[in-house]
Amino acid sequence: MANVSVSKLVKAFGTATVLKGIDIDVRDGEFLSLVGPSGCGKSTLLRMIAGLEQISGGEIAIEGKVVNNLAAKDRDIAMVFQNYALYPHMTVRENMSFALEMRGQSKSDMGKSIAAAAGVLGLDSLLDRYPRQLSGGQQQRVAMGRAIVRNPKVFLFDEPLSNLDAKLRVQMRAEIKDLHARLKATMIYVTHDQLEAMTMADRIVVMRNGVVEQIGSPLELYDRPANAFVGSFIGSPS
Ligand code: ADP
Ligand code: MG
Repeated sequence: MANVSVSKLVKAFGTATVLKGIDIDVRDGEFLSLVGPSGCGKSTLLRMIAGLEQISGGEIAIEGKVVNNLAAKDRDIAMVFQNYALYPHMTVRENMSFALEMRGQSKSDMGKSIAAAAGVLGLDSLLDRYPRQLSGGQQQRVAMGRAIVRNPKVFLFDEPLSNLDAKLRVQMRAEIKDLHARLKATMIYVTHDQLEAMTMADRIVVMRNGVVEQIGSPLELYDRPANAFVGSFIGSPS
């Protein structure tokens, strides 16, 4: 677990400023959802927390330590993407062990971490398959397994369920919430689906056009939206 503090965070691509001073304090062990229309800066914010984008201004701190200049691999963070980003030429087991090898973990420790993650996600019988031999839901589980084996303090999810059908999406929401309860990790979960955020999150951050419009519990946003934009966004069908 860890708290993540984002202060006055700015991101510019050339002349376009896409994050315009973001302030968010993510609590230890919290499940925080980021929502907002396409292009508002959700993925950019997540990538900056992960260390995959340079910071143009402001600060990101994890457990009170500023990480602005800390490389992605040295942050205690794992990210799960919408497109899974599995290595196609590696088996499920190799996909999961790769990140551990990079960090110099011993073979026996690696075996234990992989067995534990596979058990949690129901991947035991799939460890020797290649990604192309898996369904979409199974591939997404492998992507989560790859994050879990590293035992990070913070998980970042970028629309992880968008490519799944509606029924599987509902099932995977429950699995992710179950993981959150078991791992007691801090999770930041981007979705463009406000219903998903409403059902999963402790608190929701509503973004628009590079700024935070409101942060609150699902009930607070529903009962007391800060402005018409939040009201219509939270109230609209997904
Ligand atoms: P979201 O995830 O909310 O849909 P993004 O964070 O992907 O939004 O994008 C926010 C804005 O930043 C968009 O206008 C997008 O075009 C722009 N953007 C994202 N990445 C880059 C990049 N590497 N170079 C230039 N512009 C980018
Ligand atoms: Mg995005």
